[in-house]
Amino acid sequence: MPHFPASDGRKPWRALVLTLFPEAFPGPLGVSLAAQARDAGIWSLDTIQIRDFGLGKHRQVDDTPAGGGAGMVLRADVLGTALDHAQNLSPDAPLLYLSPRGTPLTQSLARDLADGPGVTLLAGRFEGIDERVIAAKSLKEISIGDYVLAGGEVAAMVLIEACVRLLPGVVGASDSLTSESFEIGMLEYPQFTKPRDWEGRTIPDVLLSGDHKKIEIWRREQAERLTADRRPDLLHTRARKHR
Ligand code: SAH
Repeated sequence: MPHFPASDGRKPWRALVLTLFPEAFPGPLGVSLAAQARDAGIWSLDTIQIRDFGLGKHRQVDDTPAGGGAGMVLRADVLGTALDHAQNLSPDAPLLYLSPRGTPLTQSLARDLADGPGVTLLAGRFEGIDERVIAAKSLKEISIGDYVLAGGEVAAMVLIEACVRLLPGVVGASDSLTSESFEIGMLEYPQFTKPRDWEGRTIPDVLLSGDHKKIEIWRREQAERLTADRRPDLLHTRARKHR
């Protein structure tokens, strides 16, 4: 169990999510290290129900796409008011819209966001949102991968979780963060634990040798081999960065 520092007067990293389904939160963010860190005041999570800004008796938030086509689109006017409200609550946080068209979420983006005051996230639904609100509110679009989800809620949770575990005091040993996949531009080496022999499969001898230098070299080779096999694109990016 990591030890959380007593509240040191630092403002919590603030996650604010605009959604039509606030009941989806905290979801997996309500367990384990993220939950303990939230209880300790390292970060906070609030939701804004977009429907509260809906129009008329039925609090309408969406309408049919201009130009025709299937589905519904979230209205610019409704989202505009909801986003203004969010900005009043969390004026310093970047405004991000989870979207399959966005900049891919990477470990280095998560680190940049974790270093800031927090994030305000707009989770879309249906066919997405009116394009004008993206321009008017300078929303930065972030994608969690090349596939289409039914809504931005799960994507928002993915982004928040990736950031929260990087906040100081959340993950016990900071070593366990720096050697991880992507942090050094490679995938992580294989991990083993007890028992030493499991159904005839043994742990590589070098890991039991106690020779830290050798272990380090072995892990590095494994990481390079795995990365070359599975994600050669990462090695190319790395080579470019280190040139
Ligand atoms: N018609 C849109 C997809 C809408 S999916 C398109 O083709 O681009 C509905 C909502 O789910 C989106 O508004 C977005 O908030 C969320 N979403 C879907 N896929 C996502 C992804 N890969 N990353 C982040 N958010 C996603």
